Amino acid sequence: MRRPTVGVLALQGGVAEHADMLGHLGASVTLVRRPEQLTEVDALVLPGGESSTIDRLTRIFGLRDPLIEAIRNGLPTLGTCAGLIMVSTTIDDPAPGQQSLGVLDVGVSRNAFGSQVESAEVTVKWKGSAADSVRAAFIRAPIVTRVGPGVETLAEHGGEVVAVRQGKIVGISFHPELTGDTTVHQELIDSID
Ligand code: GLN
Repeated sequence: MRRPTVGVLALQGGVAEHADMLGHLGASVTLVRRPEQLTEVDALVLPGGESSTIDRLTRIFGLRDPLIEAIRNGLPTLGTCAGLIMVSTTIDDPAPGQQSLGVLDVGVSRNAFGSQVESAEVTVKWKGSAADSVRAAFIRAPIVTRVGPGVETLAEHGGEVVAVRQGKIVGISFHPELTGDTTVHQELIDSID
């Protein structure tokens, strides 16, 4: 197989950590800031950060509709933390004016695990294909409050759903790129046709 190209949406947030991990796994990484770059990537990561800021920037940079179109057309996509909020259908507690892309049929609640100081690193059971558990860092993490039909739960933590998959879209509340656990990124690469 040729070397896959994975895009990381590079408007705000933890871009470098994803780029490093994907590079380590052998992918060529594109930092996505322009709509036309979406046609050049085989998969996409929406990083953590501040979802209301990322949302605003996607609209300012003309990326909102191209992102929705590319993901709906089957681009394998991983949303982590704020990226999970971005791909969700509904945000229970949005910032004023905040929108999501509405491509993964879940509801999410932002900051549901508390503030920055309540951040934690834990091992969660993982129902994906590459490993049974994932080392996960939770940082002002959202939870999934509604799982739509056709959406599979991949992990729970503290009785809450923290990872989901619908087709080629995976959304996780936590940050494996900060713990060095490559499971979720490897599965993203493996899901490229
Ligand atoms: N709570 C943040 C938000 O609402 C997400 C935090 C994160 O991505 N680490 O966007």
